[in-house]
Amino acid sequence: MDLQLVGRGRPILVALAAASAIALFAIVASMMGVRTAEAAFVSTTLPPVQVVEPEPVRSGVAFVGGDGVTLWSGPERDPLLALEGGITLPFLHRSGDWLLVTTMCNDTAWVDAADVEIVPSAAAETPGSGFDIAGATIVLDPGHGARDWGGVGPSGLAEKEVNLDIADRVRDLMAASRVIDWSDGSVDPGAEVPSFGRVILTRDVTGPEGGDFELGLGYRASVATAAGADAFVSIHNNTVPRIDTDIPGSEVYYSAAAEGSDRLASLIYEELLRSFSVFEADWRGGELLGARARIDPDTGDDYYGLLRRSTMPAVIVEGVYISEPDEEALLATAEFRQAYAEAVYRGIVRFLTTAEEGPGVNRPEVFGLDAGTVSGNGCQLPVRAE
Ligand SMILES: [Zn+2]
Repeated sequence: MDLQLVGRGRPILVALAAASAIALFAIVASMMGVRTAEAAFVSTTLPPVQVVEPEPVRSGVAFVGGDGVTLWSGPERDPLLALEGGITLPFLHRSGDWLLVTTMCNDTAWVDAADVEIVPSAAAETPGSGFDIAGATIVLDPGHGARDWGGVGPSGLAEKEVNLDIADRVRDLMAASRVIDWSDGSVDPGAEVPSFGRVILTRDVTGPEGGDFELGLGYRASVATAAGADAFVSIHNNTVPRIDTDIPGSEVYYSAAAEGSDRLASLIYEELLRSFSVFEADWRGGELLGARARIDPDTGDDYYGLLRRSTMPAVIVEGVYISEPDEEALLATAEFRQAYAEAVYRGIVRFLTTAEEGPGVNRPEVFGLDAGTVSGNGCQLPVRAE
C-alpha cells in the first residue's frame, strides 16, 4: 500500500520533522524497553500527520453479490433498475465513488463502488517459462445464453447449457493445483501446476437462472479487457458440418489482430484432438479443420465481433458438432465434457508457461457476404505498367 505523509502548513518540512521525531522517539523508547507500536501510540504531542489513502481503482471488474445492485443513470442521479446478484460488471472509468460499468446488454450504467466487490485490472504478464500461474487472470466465456440457445442437437440438447458446464469444469480444474501427465493428457490433483490466480466466467452458474442469462458480445469482451485477462477463451460447439472426417472436426478461431491468439488457438486445438480422439464417433467437420481466423472483407478486421473487440490473446473454441447425432450424444456425457475442459486447461497452461507453437494455424481467410471480391462497385486497383 502506498501511504503518503502530508503535513498541514509547511507540508514537507513538518512531515519530515514529524517522521524524524517519531523515529527518534521509537529508538529512545526501544532502548527503554518500550515496544515501537506503543511508542507510536503515545506520541500524541507531535504535529498532526494526515494519511492519504491510495488512489482508487480506476478500472477492473465489480462483482455483484447475492443482494444485487442498483444501476444508476449517473452519479447521484436516477436509479435505473435493480440488478440480480451473481454477476460481474466490467468498468473502465470511475468518477469519485461511482463506477461506469458495461451491462450484459452492452449499455453503460453507474454503480456505487460501495455496493460491489472490486477487483482491479490485472497487470499483463508475458507468457513463457517464467510465467506465474498463481498470478494469472483467465476469462472463460460460455457461448450464448437465455433465449439464444446456440446450436441445438437432434434430440434437443442446447449448446448454451453444454458450453456453461464445460466452462465451469475448466474453472474447477484451475481452482486447485494439478499435475498433468503429458504422455496421455490426464489431469489430476498434484503440485506441478499451481491454482490460477483468478478465473472469471462471463456467465456463471452462481448467477441468475443458474447462469442462463443473456450477454452481448461487447459485454463479454469488456469483462476480459477490464479484468486484464492473460487469456480470453470462449467455449462453443459447432453446427452444420460439410463433410465426413476421420478425426474430430474441432475448430479454434483466433483473433488475427491480438498478439498470441494464434499460438493459443494452435495449442488448444492440439489438446482437443488429444482429448477427443479416444472417443468413438462418425466425426463430421468443415472443409478446414484446426486453428483458423476469419477476416471481414469490408473492414479488414476480425470477422467475429468477440475477437474484434479483444486486445489480449483471444480464441473461440468450437469443440465438436452438436448438430450431429453421434457428437450430441458425446456432449451429453460428463466424461466428454470433462475431456473438453481438460483440453482447454492443458492448452492454456502450455500457452502461458512455454513458447511452444503446437501444430500451427491456418492462414486468416476472408469471410463474409462479399468474400472474394475487392469491392462491390466496380472499383479497380491501379496496375503498374510493365
Ligand atoms: Zn456457439
